[in-house]
Amino acid sequence: MRELIRTSIVFRSASAVLGMALLVGSIFSLFTYFYLASTEQKHAISNIKELLNSVENTVAVACYLSDTNLSNDVANDLQKNTNIKEVRIFNNKTLLSEVKKDLPNASNNLSRAISKDSDFIQTDIYSPFNKTEQVCHIRVRVNQEAIYDQSTTKARIISAFLFLQTILMASAVAYIVLSIITRPIKTISDRLHNLRPEKGELLPQPEKNKYDELGQLTSDVNRLIADLVGTLEEERELRIQHALGEKKFQTIFDNAETGIFQMNKDAILTSCNPAFLQMLGVEKENSSNALIETMKGQELRLHLMIDTAINEMRVLSDDFYVEVDHRKQKKWIHLVIHATENGELQGLMNDITERKLREENANQLAITDHLTGAYNRLGFEREMARRSKAHINESGSPFFIMLIDLDKFKQVNDQLGHQAGDEVLIQFSNILHKTLRKSDFIARVGGDEFIVLLHDLQKQTIAEEIAKKIISQVAAPIALSAGSWASIGTSIGITFVDRASFVPAEVLAKADIAMYEVKKSGRNDYRMADTTDS
Ligand code: GH3
Ligand code: MG
Repeated sequence: MRELIRTSIVFRSASAVLGMALLVGSIFSLFTYFYLASTEQKHAISNIKELLNSVENTVAVACYLSDTNLSNDVANDLQKNTNIKEVRIFNNKTLLSEVKKDLPNASNNLSRAISKDSDFIQTDIYSPFNKTEQVCHIRVRVNQEAIYDQSTTKARIISAFLFLQTILMASAVAYIVLSIITRPIKTISDRLHNLRPEKGELLPQPEKNKYDELGQLTSDVNRLIADLVGTLEEERELRIQHALGEKKFQTIFDNAETGIFQMNKDAILTSCNPAFLQMLGVEKENSSNALIETMKGQELRLHLMIDTAINEMRVLSDDFYVEVDHRKQKKWIHLVIHATENGELQGLMNDITERKLREENANQLAITDHLTGAYNRLGFEREMARRSKAHINESGSPFFIMLIDLDKFKQVNDQLGHQAGDEVLIQFSNILHKTLRKSDFIARVGGDEFIVLLHDLQKQTIAEEIAKKIISQVAAPIALSAGSWASIGTSIGITFVDRASFVPAEVLAKADIAMYEVKKSGRNDYRMADTTDS
């Protein structure tokens, strides 16, 4: 029952109307009952008094004449009234007439009230000739039981009608509420409950409520359903588009030749594609630290790049030298990274090893003498600049510079031809390469002018030994491919560069002066520009 009241608006509203009607009907019926009963009783007493007044004159005559018959007639007439139980007419103290009704002995409460004063009504009778002279009095005993029965019966009937009317009215109201309001609401509610909006179903308009609030409610619900279905449809479309987009991206991600990856600010990878793994030669399971582990010595540069990308929210790129496949393979990679909103970083990685090699080859060509394969003047200048920088940083080692110019080279050209001269230059370069260590530096800086840097050397005697070795080897005739022989010599100017910083042009000038001194003093010899010997 409680469940029914909780879940059914029909039952709840009907119960409320009827319950309220019962309560109100009961209160009003009870009130009406008591009010009517009391009013009826007063009315009966009043009637008795009026009746006594109407017989007053007759009784006065009877008393005046002491006419018992007349008195008895009056008493009998009075006693015919249902509400009068007993009539007594007293002439002074003498009982003139007495009439009693034969009533069955009542055993209820009212019968015991016979002795009460309120049960009696007495009227004094005066002489018909002298209105001040009392001649007798009439005393009647009221039939309280009859009055009570009459009044309560009437009150009960009216109360019952009133109660019935209230219940009928309530039932009518309940019926009207149910049929006009509650049942249509329940019908709409039931239809709504079973509605399948995804199949395009809408609420049918209730026929009788098309133009009232329920009709408006149905229209509003239908509009909401249409909006909702539209939104759901759009969302479904977007989900499909999103899934397709993701699938496309996944295909690109899986098949791209470029490495694609995500990492956190500590360069720990959170995701990467197969190209990335292949480029760094790692398995997916061991890939989280792959990037940082392969670029030993450049971690700081990578972390700086990451910090800048996060702090400045811009795209950064740089080249890194990596050792992959357990350090067996060396590669150059180009990284492009940018920070995402959630503090992670996304990046692309490309293998630029080949490009780097091509660049290196081009650089090498630029600093190489095409004829002899030794360094050219540009190569020499770069090497000197590098050494000068290293000496400033106190990381450079002492070395000797030999400036070598071939003696009488022009004659070879003139006598044997330019090609023979070229061959001599090549053979001289070979002599230098054979005589010197791998770590030494050889460059042809002019026509027949070579420069040698004796690397990491402090002893002048050793430098002199090397100079002598070169001179003696070149002193011998050089066999040429055409079957002829070329005879040349070498003049060498030597200078020493210790650990102190130096200016390349100055030390070169010293060697140059020393070399020209040799030329001036007959050629085919060496001269130390700086006699310092450690
Ligand atoms: P010195 O003893 O005073 O050094 O005189 P030299 O004959 O060696 O002549 P010098 O050093 O003054 O000149 C070098 C010559 O080398 C000048 C030039 O004709 C020649 N020469 C320069 N470049 C080349 C080259 O690439 N090939 C050939 N075959 N000859 C060159
Ligand atoms: Mg020369």
